[in-house]
Amino acid sequence: MLTQLREIVEQVSKVDDLRQSLDILVIETCKAMKTECCSIYIVNEEKKHLELMATKGLETHKKSVTLDVNEGLVGLVYRTVEPLNLADAINHSNYKYVPEIGEEIYHSFLATPIVHRRNCLGVIVIQQRKQRSFTDVEESFLVTLAAQLAVIFAHAKSQGQWFQSNRNQTQIFSGIAASPGVAIAPLWWSDDQPKLELVSPCSSLDIDQELENLSRALELAMKDFRKLRKRLVNDINKDTLAIFDLFIHLLNDPILREDLKKQIKSGDCADWALRQVVESYAARFNKMSDPYLRERSQDIKELGQRLLHFLYNGESVEYDWPHPVILITQELTASLLASIPKGKLKAVVSMEGAANSHAAILSRALGILAVMGVDIVPQKLHNKKSIVDGYSGQIFVRPSRTLVKEYKQLLNEEIELSKLVEGEIEENTQTKDQLTINLFLNAGLSADTSIAINKGVKGVGLYRTEIPFLLHHRFPSEDEQTLQYRSVLKAYPNKPVVMRTLDVGGDKPLPYLCVEEDNPFLGWRGIRFTLDHPDIFLIQLRAMLKASVGLDNMDIMLPMISGLKELDEALAFIEQAYNEVSELSDYQLKRPKIGIMIEVPSMLYLLPQVAKKVDFISVGSNDLTQYLLAVDRNNSRVADVYDSLHPAVIAALKHIIDISNQHKLPVCLCGELAGDPIGALILVGLGYRSLSMNTSSVAKIKYILRQVSLAELVIMVDKINHCYAAEDIREMMVNFLESKGLGGFIRAGK
Ligand code: PEP
Ligand code: MG
Repeated sequence: MLTQLREIVEQVSKVDDLRQSLDILVIETCKAMKTECCSIYIVNEEKKHLELMATKGLETHKKSVTLDVNEGLVGLVYRTVEPLNLADAINHSNYKYVPEIGEEIYHSFLATPIVHRRNCLGVIVIQQRKQRSFTDVEESFLVTLAAQLAVIFAHAKSQGQWFQSNRNQTQIFSGIAASPGVAIAPLWWSDDQPKLELVSPCSSLDIDQELENLSRALELAMKDFRKLRKRLVNDINKDTLAIFDLFIHLLNDPILREDLKKQIKSGDCADWALRQVVESYAARFNKMSDPYLRERSQDIKELGQRLLHFLYNGESVEYDWPHPVILITQELTASLLASIPKGKLKAVVSMEGAANSHAAILSRALGILAVMGVDIVPQKLHNKKSIVDGYSGQIFVRPSRTLVKEYKQLLNEEIELSKLVEGEIEENTQTKDQLTINLFLNAGLSADTSIAINKGVKGVGLYRTEIPFLLHHRFPSEDEQTLQYRSVLKAYPNKPVVMRTLDVGGDKPLPYLCVEEDNPFLGWRGIRFTLDHPDIFLIQLRAMLKASVGLDNMDIMLPMISGLKELDEALAFIEQAYNEVSELSDYQLKRPKIGIMIEVPSMLYLLPQVAKKVDFISVGSNDLTQYLLAVDRNNSRVADVYDSLHPAVIAALKHIIDISNQHKLPVCLCGELAGDPIGALILVGLGYRSLSMNTSSVAKIKYILRQVSLAELVIMVDKINHCYAAEDIREMMVNFLESKGLGGFIRAGK
C-alpha cells in the first residue's frame, strides 16, 4: 500500500494544474482502495462552504455542488477535523440528501479532513455500495494520503495556484511581520542572473586560474544545494527534494568534473567550458527515449546555470531600479540590505527567515519594512502592483482600488504619527509621574560606520561588532578594527558606548570561516568561538581598548556567556589585553566597565555570583526567548511559538531585574523587546530603567513612555503575571495602549 500511496502522491504533484491533478487523484484513489467512489471537497473560507472539486462515482453534470460547512457528513468531518467511518451513511443524523448527484446508491462512507498546520483545507471521501465499515488499514491509508495532500494543497495555495473564480482578484500571501510599516509599490524580482546560453566563446592563457575558478564555483554550488535541501527537507515532497540530490550527485560526478577540466585545459575560459559541457550533456539526455531521463536534460541546464552564477558571483550583487520597489528575495542578508540604494526600497519580502533573525533586526534598524517566510513563486509576481502590510505580514497583489485607498489612509496616518513622535525626540524620557528611563541605541548591525549622533539617547547600549567581520573577506586587522571602533566612539563623545565582543556563529556565519554544524545556535557561537581563538579575541580587545584612548567612553560586553568559568576566562583575556595596551601608551588607559549579556538561561541562576565579577549586565531577550522556549529565532515554521511575551519569558525577565536589584547590579535590556511598544511598557513596569533599541524605535518609545505613568504600568504588570498565554498578555496591553490613545503604534493592518 505504501508504494500505491507514493505513486498517487507522485502523480498528483507532477501535474501543474491543480484541478487536473484532483481528477487524477480521485481515479487513482479508487483504484488503490478498490472502491467505487472517491470525492474531494475544498473549503471556500470566504463563502463558508465546501465545494465538490473532483469526483469519481458521483454525478455532477458539470454543475457546481456545494455544501454549507454546517451541513451533511462532509461538513461534520470539516468541523470536527476527524475521520468518519460509517457502514450505513444514509441513516446517520447528519446525512444530507443532495438531489441529482446519485449518492444514494452508496452506503458505506469513509471521510477524512485534509489538514495543514491546524487549518482544514478540505475533505476527501470514499464511498461504497456495500454496507460495511472500512478497515483500520483503509482508514489509515486515507489519513496518510490526506496528510500528504495537505502539503501539496498548502503549497499550491501559497503559490497563488488555489482555486480562484476571478483572475483579476487580489491575491493574498501571508508571512511573518518582521519590520512594521505600510508600502504600496510594484513587486520586484530580479532575474538578472547571467544566462548560460549567452556565454560566448572565450579562451584563456591562465589555465590554472580558470581551473581554480571552476573548483571554487563547484564548492559554492555544492554548499548551496546542500543548504537548500536541508532547509526544505520537511516542507516539500520527496519528488521535489530529489532534484537537490541529483544536483549534488552531478556536482560530485568525477566524469562531469573531468570533462569540465579537460575543456578548460584545451584553452577555454571556465564559463565557456561550462556552457559547452552542459549543452553536450543536456543534448545527450534529450535524445533518450525514456521520458524521465529526457527530462533530466532540463536539470543539467539548471545546474549549469547555478554553476555559472557562482563562477561570476562569489560575491554580492549591486542593485538599482528605475523606481521604488518592493523587493522579493530568497534570503534577506545584511550585505543585500547594505547594497541597496536608499530611497529605492519600499519593503522587502523574503521567502526565508523569521522576525528575530539578524536580517530582520537589521531591517528594523534601517526602518525598512519587511515580511519574511513567505512562500511564493516570485517570477509570477514580478512588477505586479502590491501592498505590503508590515504589521500583519500580509501581501496584497493586484489590490482593489478600495484597498489601496484604505492603505493610503493608513500610510498618511503613519506619517502624521512619526512627525508627532519626532517632534519630542530631544525631550527627557520621563513618565507622567516623573520616572526617568534611560534610552540607549543598538548600533553596528547596519554596517553604517557614520552613525549620527542621536540627541535623544544616553549612549550606545549595544554595539554589535559583527558587521565589519561579516563584510570582509578575511578577519579585519587590529588597525582596521581600531579605526572602525574609534569612529563609533568618537560619534558619542561623553556618552557610554557598550561594545560587544564578536558574536559570530548561529545565524551570523563568517563567509571566510566555514563551520558546518547541525545546530549552529547551540554550537560554536559568541564567546565559545572567541575563547577558542585567543588570537582573534585578543586582537579585538586590544583594538577596542586602543580605540578608546583619550575618549574614555567605552565599555565591553561579552555575548553568550553560559557559565562562570567562561566568564573568568574571558575576564583574564580582557586583563591581558588591558595590560598590553597600557604598556604601549603613556596615557593612563581608562579601565572599561565590563558586562555580560544575559541570554543563555543558565545565567539566571548565577546572577549573585555574576554580580561579584562584572559591572553590569544586559539582557538579550532575543536569544533568551529562543533558548528558554527551545524555538529557533530564524525558523519561519515555528515563528508563532517564538514570543517574547510568553509568560515564562516575562517571569525570567522579572527574576533577572529582582535579583540584580538585590545585588545592586546595573541592568539594561538590549533585545528587540525594548524597542517594541508593548515590550517597553512591560519592562518599565517590571522595574527595568535602561532600554537599548534600534534608532528607528527611539522616538516612538520615548513618546509612548511620556504618555503613561509608572503607577499604571505596575498595575498592568501585576495583571500580566496572572496571564496564561502570550496572546492574553498582548491583548491586555493592546487594550491598555488603545485606552491611552496610543493604538496607532501597534495597529495591525486590515
Ligand atoms: C539578543 O540576543 O537579544 C541580542 C541583543 O543579541 P543578538 O540579537 O545580536 O543575538
Ligand atoms: Mg544574542
